[in-house]
Amino acid sequence: MDSSVVVVGSLNADLVFSAERMPDPGETVAGADFAVHPGGKSANQAVAAARLGARVRLVGAVGDDPHGEMLRASAEAAGVDVSAVRVVAGVPSGVAGITVDARGENSIVIIPGANGMLAPGDIAAARSHSVFEGAAVVCLCLEVPMPTVLAAAQAGRDAGATVILNLSPYAAIPPELAACTDVLLVNAREAGQLLGSGDLEPSSDWTATDWAEAGPAFVRAGFRKVIVTLGARGAVLLDPDPAAAVVPLESTPVVPVDTTGAGDGFTAAVTVRLAAGDSLEDAARYASVAAALATTRPGAQPSYPSAGEVEEKIR
Ligand code: ATP
Repeated sequence: MDSSVVVVGSLNADLVFSAERMPDPGETVAGADFAVHPGGKSANQAVAAARLGARVRLVGAVGDDPHGEMLRASAEAAGVDVSAVRVVAGVPSGVAGITVDARGENSIVIIPGANGMLAPGDIAAARSHSVFEGAAVVCLCLEVPMPTVLAAAQAGRDAGATVILNLSPYAAIPPELAACTDVLLVNAREAGQLLGSGDLEPSSDWTATDWAEAGPAFVRAGFRKVIVTLGARGAVLLDPDPAAAVVPLESTPVVPVDTTGAGDGFTAAVTVRLAAGDSLEDAARYASVAAALATTRPGAQPSYPSAGEVEEKIR
């Protein structure tokens, strides 16, 4: 497969503190373990997409520090082209401070660092270096500044690529960005944040019929084709062509050990399969299998399956 994708967005070093329980405000607790992992939504998506066999270019920014070196090296080791990941002098790389308790619950503080410096000028530079040329799909998230996301969506549009927007972390979307988005990917919480101000209060307990009723609200928000991921309950695909079709996607039965980064694995697999020419429904079905496999292994980037592993599971 020689499908080409561009992922634009964040790279973070995940600093993971494991402890029996979360400290209360003002309290200090003794931890059990500490580890540093490569992360950030876009770095995860790029690595997962490369492992599925796509040609992947990542556009982002890291600091000139050891975290930045680790982030570029881990993406490159997975086969991602990191030549458009800028090293910003004098600024730390993005970090996520993650505390995990014995039940697997986590709380996270993100410091964007160099991710916050990724500017529309970086997208212009990537365009001038033909980074978007030949891309079948451009994949975006919201861990970098909104003007940059908009510039990247426009670059994708101009290149004739399909633009996928992962609405994470949630932020209000300017109409110009919605207009450049072909497929919106959200989890139930983000769907609630997008639509929840009216009578609708989306939740992961909703049935396919409930989601069907929410279809027009997504269209009013500017999005026509939407995938809502529902964790262990699977996902739903909403596509108003033909009128308000809703496709429930069962999750793949697995024994999960760590669901960290499953959403990024799902987004990456949809990106790769759309780039390979699949329909959105086929791409989403494939992504359900890829994301389920990712939950059966610890961590985010190390957990993403190869195309061979996904095909084996589908057979
Ligand atoms: P995260 O932020 O942890 O990456 P998310 O909230 O963005 O996750 P989820 O909806 O939790 O995304 O999961 C994405 C997809 O992963 C689901 O739609 C499903 O296909 C798959 N998945 C997640 N958890 C499980 C599970 N326990 N069993 C099978 N598949 C799962």
